[in-house]
Amino acid sequence: MNINKLKGGIFGVTIGDALGVPVEFKSREFLRVNPVKDFLGYLCWNQPPGTWSDDSSLTLCLIDSLINGFDIEDIGQKFANWYQNGYWGAHHKVFDVGGSIRCSLERIIAGESARFSGGFFEYDNGNGSLMRILPMVYFLQNERSIEERFMKIREVSSITHANLRSVLSCFIYTEYALLLLKGDDKYLAYQKIKKQLVDFVEEKDFNQREIKLFERVLIQDIFDINESEIKSSGYVLHSLEASLWCFLNTDSYQEAVLKAVNLGDDTDTTAAITGGLAGLYYGYDKIPENWKKEVARFNDIESLIENFYTKLENEIYC
Ligand SMILES: [Mg+2]
Repeated sequence: MNINKLKGGIFGVTIGDALGVPVEFKSREFLRVNPVKDFLGYLCWNQPPGTWSDDSSLTLCLIDSLINGFDIEDIGQKFANWYQNGYWGAHHKVFDVGGSIRCSLERIIAGESARFSGGFFEYDNGNGSLMRILPMVYFLQNERSIEERFMKIREVSSITHANLRSVLSCFIYTEYALLLLKGDDKYLAYQKIKKQLVDFVEEKDFNQREIKLFERVLIQDIFDINESEIKSSGYVLHSLEASLWCFLNTDSYQEAVLKAVNLGDDTDTTAAITGGLAGLYYGYDKIPENWKKEVARFNDIESLIENFYTKLENEIYC
């Protein structure tokens, strides 16, 4: 594996996240007049420029755990350590946590297994598992069984988000990213993934009402949808659609993440999810240097990625 695609994906998440943090909840109309073009500081969460949030913290916790192999309880414990102690916090503390994540991690802290900690109701479909799933793409790159990949993605999502809608969103995203990692063109990979996923869900005989919700991603061409119909809230389906839309309608990392931020609303997470795809696809060396210099805990993230890369290259896992 090319380390450029690993560093690109992970820094892609953290930098996208950090670009969005100061303007979280700002409307699209506001950002149309005052577009974000660079790191800003303070504003929404009163954090210095380059500060990333829960999206990146949980992504980095996941890597930290995967370095020692796949252990769902250990991943849950690392997430709980972030929530309680700011482990892998941008400044070693927590300033933002979503509702489903809070409930799930409190269950783990109270002694529940990470296999049963996630919310599974329809209202537990925020973007909190999609925003931190990217490391699984690298971990599963040599796993040939789609069934096995699905099971692992489901387990990792379900620590906090166990509803099928969240699981399937994570799975579509990771399957797509997997093709990008293997070097496919982004439009070709999108068409391939649509067919592959439609076949997969048909075979699994999932609830058709649920599958219908993915029609704009899996049957239509999401990139052809008008911007006014692309929502950027904290709902997982909106985040999946918006991230694919931003990535497929732009030609560089910078353009993709800024488009995501400037959609407004859940700016940090839309940009983190978009940034993961774009960073992986275009590569680390295409991420603007000034953003790499300014992102919080650059050296710590770089060491963590290098450690992960070494483990992956030794092919300990799949
Ligand atoms: Mg966040």
